[in-house]
Formats: sequence, structure tokens, C-alpha cells
Amino acid sequence: MRTFRAFTLQSRLASAAHWPPRPVPAPADDLLRRCDASLTQRLPSAASTRHLLRFQHSEAVSPATDPEQNDRAVQVALEEAQIAARERGLTGAPVGRRNFGIAAHIDSGKTTLSERILFYSGRIRRIHEVRGKDGVGATMDSMELERERGITIASAATYLNWQRGFHLNLIDTPGHVDFTIEVERAMRVLDGAILVLCGVSGVQSQSLTVDRQMRRYRVPRLAFVNKLDRKGANPERVLEQIVNKLHQPAAFLTIPIGVERDLVGVVDVIRQQAVYFEGEYGEQLRIEDTIPSSLKSKADQARRHLIECLANVDERFGDLFLEHDYGVPEDAIHRAIRRATIARSFTPVYCGSALRNVGVQPLLDAVVNYLPSPVEVRSYAMQGDTEQRIQLEPDANASLVSLAFKLEDGRFGQLTYLRVYQGTLRRGDLIYNARTGKRLRVPRLVRLHADQMEDIQEATAGDICAMFGLDCASGDTFTDEAGLGRRLSLESIRVPEPVISLAITPQGKTDAQANFSKALARFTKEDPTFRTYLDPESKQTIICGMGELHLEIYIERMRREYGVECQVGQPKVNYRESVSRRAPFQYLHRKQSGGAGQYAGVQGYIEPTLEAGYWTARPEDSETAESDRQAMSAVNTTSEEGGQAVAAQREATKRAAENEFVNALVGNNIPPQFIPAIERGFQDAVQEGALSGHIVQGVRMVLQDGKSHPVDSNEIAFRTAALMAFRKAFPQAGGVILEPWMRVAVQVPQEYSGDILGSLTKRRGTVVNSQTDGEYALIEADVPLSQMFGYSTDLRSMTQGKGEFTMEYLRHEPCTREDQERLIADYAALRKTKAND
Ligand code: GDP
Repeated sequence: MRTFRAFTLQSRLASAAHWPPRPVPAPADDLLRRCDASLTQRLPSAASTRHLLRFQHSEAVSPATDPEQNDRAVQVALEEAQIAARERGLTGAPVGRRNFGIAAHIDSGKTTLSERILFYSGRIRRIHEVRGKDGVGATMDSMELERERGITIASAATYLNWQRGFHLNLIDTPGHVDFTIEVERAMRVLDGAILVLCGVSGVQSQSLTVDRQMRRYRVPRLAFVNKLDRKGANPERVLEQIVNKLHQPAAFLTIPIGVERDLVGVVDVIRQQAVYFEGEYGEQLRIEDTIPSSLKSKADQARRHLIECLANVDERFGDLFLEHDYGVPEDAIHRAIRRATIARSFTPVYCGSALRNVGVQPLLDAVVNYLPSPVEVRSYAMQGDTEQRIQLEPDANASLVSLAFKLEDGRFGQLTYLRVYQGTLRRGDLIYNARTGKRLRVPRLVRLHADQMEDIQEATAGDICAMFGLDCASGDTFTDEAGLGRRLSLESIRVPEPVISLAITPQGKTDAQANFSKALARFTKEDPTFRTYLDPESKQTIICGMGELHLEIYIERMRREYGVECQVGQPKVNYRESVSRRAPFQYLHRKQSGGAGQYAGVQGYIEPTLEAGYWTARPEDSETAESDRQAMSAVNTTSEEGGQAVAAQREATKRAAENEFVNALVGNNIPPQFIPAIERGFQDAVQEGALSGHIVQGVRMVLQDGKSHPVDSNEIAFRTAALMAFRKAFPQAGGVILEPWMRVAVQVPQEYSGDILGSLTKRRGTVVNSQTDGEYALIEADVPLSQMFGYSTDLRSMTQGKGEFTMEYLRHEPCTREDQERLIADYAALRKTKAND
């Protein structure tokens, strides 16, 4: 959904027709000096001195596209961050830090782009291509499997310096939606992102998913239109798609000089200069004031469009536009781009080709110039049981609050990635895990560079680092003693439920079994969307995850990294059970077989934790920009709006997946020591639903009364009574079997769109969006996962291999009556066989 401002540019233009355009003021040439001077003046704390030192001793002082221009933009960026720091009363603010990620549809060139970014910033000395002939592989793809398949699986973190010592943390995120947790984790801790789009294919199926994730975590972004050297590349079409499909006001900041094989450089739209990328890897920039004559009018149009676009999305700039017309001062343009980008009402679009080394440096400049510093982003923690939101201060001098957002088991034990939100994390300090209250001393602290690391003594607010030897779970908060006292904790990352499972059996002897268990323990610790359990019936290990590729990769990793070959079963859908209305229970468990008997009675009711039918009305359901914006505003929000919506959303999502036991006993019919046993009986019952044996979710059991015997009542009796009572009440409570639904996005050449719509409808899909654009059609539909097996083969044959699709878990919904009856009958048959055995 778009949020349009109340006035339009046209109406402003009409009323401003008499304003004469004014000349652009000449930029000053001593900006660098002033920039440093202003930093010292404005941030006279110890932390700022540290910053300043870093500025002066940065490892890689990079060539900006145009020193003069970039100094203006950098100056603006610093000033804006300093203003934000002053307004927030911060003394040790990380104004020169950027935490950014790169996200995109698979194969758009993220990894290739990262490689250039590392090279230009001096982090690596040579460029290695993804699937390159030298067989080395890209630096960010450190896992052997990644290098071989040419895809990015685990996100790798790295850091770099750019523009006189700006400190950038870059997280490379995986492209495949099955690794969605990796993307979500990155989004959670990042302040900005680059969305890479292919210059030929434009906004593809997964670009929509990534866009949703960026909105969910309120991440400001830049767009990079890559692969403009490819045949059929068309940057204007991609811009149009950003506006129309992603509903984002956007404008070019660079446009290509030449396309396809003739791509040689880009035009800087603000300054109307030509930038050429020379040298073996495009590392030498040649900037010319004259742009090729064939591009003059296009470049001028692009500049006008940029200014109009900004005037429409930014009120302050709109006023300036009325005054200066298209001659708005350059600083004001930078400021407006920065404000609007951070407010997520505008996306600056850059053009180039990572592989051909064209257009990357201006994009990296833009990370510094237009993406926010941690000071310009609002992050919150929850306080104690009240769940009151506390705004965190990105200040090195404040008390420590940091989030463990990723775990990795490596050569040296568990490596925990942390984002420091507030305070300073120092080697040797005592810190506390907010969840467990456990105290520990910060062991080794490192900064990461793909799979290599560098020891550091401290990490300050806004930084990303990693620690060794920390036993914790993903999503844990670490604080200092003051933080522990205030019981601060950061929200955990949204972890989607696994939707698919399959049985695997290790082949081989004892060794294989031991390695198999080791591998599973590691994978489950690192990836919360990968789960495993032992099927009590078949005695087989079941692994669960987010899609077929997700599980396939783990099976492959098991073989390569642990030398375990597995026999693999058919993938199965993860059904769930729930209830749709309240139903009473009254159950007496009585057994007398000589000696002490068993006697336990329970009475009460079971009911859905949410209103019946919540599954069709959950806020997550409508994955629109608006609901996403509101729903996740607790994280990285730039304003206070939507606080209640967040609470409601969090509550709904939690309750939908959780069960609850309520002790509402009045009187003494059940001695209090048996209550925990009754709750345990309830926990047993929800492990195996009464209808089909699947896990039960979203049910509350309320205990009101019961019966006991002075001699024969015991814990086992009450546990059994609760289990049986629940089972018996379940059908009366309108027990339903729920199945996972997926949001499927299919992209195909237009001539196949009819077939695709048909194929999705046949699979019980509801089409939610269908757009055609030039050659391609992009169709989005909600489809039950059970109907999606084999879809990739079908799609391939329907489109002669020209179609592709992605899917993302949406929600669980009741399955059809036929499916429910079939699952119930299958389960009954299974139980009968078991009883006869
Ligand atoms: P990722 O999956 O998004 O990380 O994409 P990769 O960086 O692995 O790139 C996918 C493929 O596209 C590789 O074969 C790259 O060499 C190729 N590629 C990346 N950037 C460009 C580009 O600018 N032009 C062309 N022609 N190919 C590119």
C-alpha cells in the first residue's frame, strides 16, 4: 500500500510558476578539513576521539567517484547524523558507522557485487568470480558447497572502511527463500540494505519476498540495477517495476553510459558528470564534466525526475523546490535523498554491472551518503515482565545491550555473532545473558571477514562483532549488570515454523551414527528453522525445515562435512491440530488392580487461545506493506506509530503457535501438589493430537475442579487423567487439522501465464496478484504446501524451462474436509495396527 502525501507536485508547480530558478551555489573545496573539524567540535567525547582517529588512520581510503561532490554528500551525511545524535543527547554516537546488507533474487549478482565491494575497499587484493575458472570462488561464499553450487547459503559478515574511514559492516544474505531465516536475521540487525535487481529480469519472484522482509523490518534501501551489460538489459523498465510492483517512489542517481556490450560507465545524475571505470578491475575512476551528447537529454530528464520525485515525497524539499525550481542547491538534494531514504519513502536507484566492474563505487558511496547510521534508527528493548518498550541509545558510553543474532559452530567452537545496540562490549568484561541470568566474562572478541577473523579489544554501540566460547541461543540478549537489573531484553527474531519434514537414516556403522548426531546437533543450534526429532513409531530421525532445498542442503552438508551418507524418505507436510470452540471435559481415571490403586478426576474446559478462525484473520495474513510496517515497528522503527499493533501482532502470532494451561481451581478437591502433573498430562496430550497424531497448537486447557483420593491419588494418575480428558474433549471442541499455506510467486514468459494461473488454481491456489509487464508475467498465489510437491518439474515442462518460482510460508489453515477425513482414517488405521502388534 502506498502512502501518498496530501499534496502533489503538480499543484505545487502550478502555484510556483512565477518563481525564477536560482543558480546552484558552488561547492566549497575545503570540505574535508571542515568535516573533520566539525566532528571534533561537535563530539568532544572520548568515543568521538576514537572515531576521529579511525577516520585519520583508516586502512583503505578509497577513491570517491568525485572527491568534491562526495565530500559534499559525506559532509551532509555526517551533519545529519550529528544532528540526530545531538537531539538524542548522545555523546559517543557511531555517526560514521553503517550496517548494511545485500539482498536479492537468486543469481542477480549479490555475491559478485560483494566481491567488488571488498576489492574496492581494500579488504581483498584479488577478485574471484562465483563459479570462476580459477576455482577459488567468491570470498563471501566460504562454504565448499556454496562455492560449488554457486549459491550463498550461510550469510557471511564482513567489514570494510570507505570514504575516509567510515566503518561499514556488510552482511551477505542468501538468495533462496528456503534460507529465509538467514535473510530475516540479517534484516533484524541491519540499518539499511542494497536491493540488487537484474537489469534484464527486473523485479523477480523473490525480489517480492525480499521486499516484504525489508518492509517487515523497516529497512531503508538503495537499489542496484545490475547486469546492464547483458543483452536485453533495460534499466528504465526496472525502475518502472520498482515503482509499480514494489510500490516505492524511486529515481535514478546514476544512469548507464551505453548498454549491453557497450556499457562503459555511468552518468552521475546530480552533478551531470560522466564516470568511467578503468584499470583491470574498474578501480580507477575517470570523471568528466562532459557527458556523451547522445545522453545529455536523458541525463537532464533523470535529474529533473529525481528532483520532482523528492519534492513529492519530502515536504521540506518540496518547499525548496518552490523556491529554487530545478536549481535546488546540491546539499539540499543530498539531504532530501537521505531523509526520504531513511524514512523509507524513496529508493535511490543505481545502475551498473558488477561483473564488468561498472557502477559499484557510486553505490558504495551511497551506502555512506544515504543509508542511516545507527544513530538515525530507533531500536527498542522490552523491560521485564511489563513488556514495556524502552528506546535504546546507540551510545558507546551507555550501559550495554546487545543481541546474539546468529550462531555458528566452527573450528574453534561456537561463534556467536552479536550486534551491539547500546554501550561497549570489551574483552574481559563481565556480561549477563538476560534470558538465563548467567554471568560470563567476554572471552575472545573478533571482527569477521567471510571465514577469517581479526581480534579486537572492544565493539561499541552500532557495531557487529563475534565472540567465541559463549553458550547461548540465537536471539539471546546480553547486557551488563545495569541492564540485567533493568531486565532489558531485545525481541527475538521471527522464526517461521518448519513446514516440511522427511525421514533420514544414516548408512554405516557406529562412527556414522555418532557423526550423524553431531551434525544434527550443530545444524539445529545454528538454524532455528531446522528441527529434528525421533519418530516414536518408525524409530526414524525426522528432519524438518522450510522447503525441499533447505533440507537437501543439510543432507549434502552431512555427507561432505561429516562423511555421513543418508537414506532419505519422501518429504511430508507438517500438519497441525487445533480446536475451534470451547468444550467441557470431565474425566475420572480409576484403576484398582491389587495394591495401591490409581484415582484422579479432572474437570474444566478446553478452548482456542485465539478466537475461532484466527487462522484466516491473522495480521500476518495480509502481507501488505501497511500491515508489515505496523506489525514490526518494534524493531528498527523510525517513529512511535503502531506500538499497539505490534503488541497485538506479537500476541496473536505467539498464541497461534502456543498452548496454554490455566489453573482455575476453586476449593480443595485436588491437592496443589498434583497440579504440575496435570499440566504435564496436558503437555503430553498436545504432542499427539487426537485426530491425526500431529502436534496441537493454539489450545488452552482450563482446570476448574476434580476429584482425589487420600491413598490412591498420585502424580501418574493425574497426568493420565489430564491426557485422557483432553483427548476426549478434543472432537467436541471442533478439532481441526491445519495445513501450511505458502505464498507462491511464479515468474514466466507472458505466453504461459494462462497455463500457470490454471496450474495454481488446480492446486487449490488463490491468486492474489497477477501482473504482466513486457515479456514476463509475475503471478502470486496462496497455495497449500501439500499441493506444491513436484511443482518445479511441472513448471519446467509447462514453460520449457523458462519459468521459475519461489515460495514462503504464510500460515496454517484448516485443510479440506476430505483431507481431514483421510488423515483421521490413516491415523486410526495406524493406531489399530499398533494395538494389534
Ligand atoms: P547471487 O546468487 O545473487 O549471489 O549471484 P552471483 O553473484 O552468484 O551471480 C550469479 C551469476 O551472474 C554468476 O554467474 C555471475 O558471474 C553472473 N553475474 C553477476 N553479475 C553480473 C553482471 O553484472 N553481468 C553479467 N553478465 N553477469 C553477472
